[in-house]
Amino acid sequence: MLNIVIFGGPGSGKGTQSVLIAEKFGLEHLSTGDLLRAEMAAGSELGKVVQSFIAQGNLVPDKWILNILSKTIDHIKDKKGVIFDGFPRTIAQAEALDEILSKRNQKLLLLLDLQVPDEVLQERMLFRSKTSGRTDDNPETIKKRIDVYHQLTAPVIEYYKNKGLYQAIKGNGSVEKIFAEISSCISAHQ
Ligand code: ADP
Repeated sequence: MLNIVIFGGPGSGKGTQSVLIAEKFGLEHLSTGDLLRAEMAAGSELGKVVQSFIAQGNLVPDKWILNILSKTIDHIKDKKGVIFDGFPRTIAQAEALDEILSKRNQKLLLLLDLQVPDEVLQERMLFRSKTSGRTDDNPETIKKRIDVYHQLTAPVIEYYKNKGLYQAIKGNGSVEKIFAEISSCISAHQ
């Protein structure tokens, strides 16, 4: 199975690239952010619980993330693997992913880290806020999300470097150029 994590700060282009990767390599696109937004839109219990964390730019506690992920992952059919978008975002989630995959006799091929400077992340999200309709795309929450990324999520990089699964990608450029780099990187590891 071709299991890949796409990693990076908020607004780094994970979602955009994931859609392209999923299509080209026949993978399931599993975005924890999209799953959470779907729960909120449906007004489910879980959606209500996670709403304030997201609106404030905080991470949703690991137990809710793992709950939503395990609900989803067993329903994936006829795919060559999974592109994990926005997960793992903490060391505990990275450890949980190892467990999820090993239970299924699978492993991770790669973590692709989209590297984008903070100022660019901020600009992109402010631009996106005009049309995204997302409660967390506002100047105050955007700053908080970038801070949370550096504090809680960036340490995940070291975890994957130690496993030899880390691959940096320059995430500042055209969507096509970044996708071309990602594609050749995945092909080289297949
Ligand atoms: P972005 O990366 O642009 O911030 P996401 O859709 O990946 O967008 O995430 C939006 C929000 O959803 C995050 O700020 C966080 O509150 C919550 N979230 C998404 N994935 C996770 C996760 N794996 N762990 C904790 N919180 C998450």
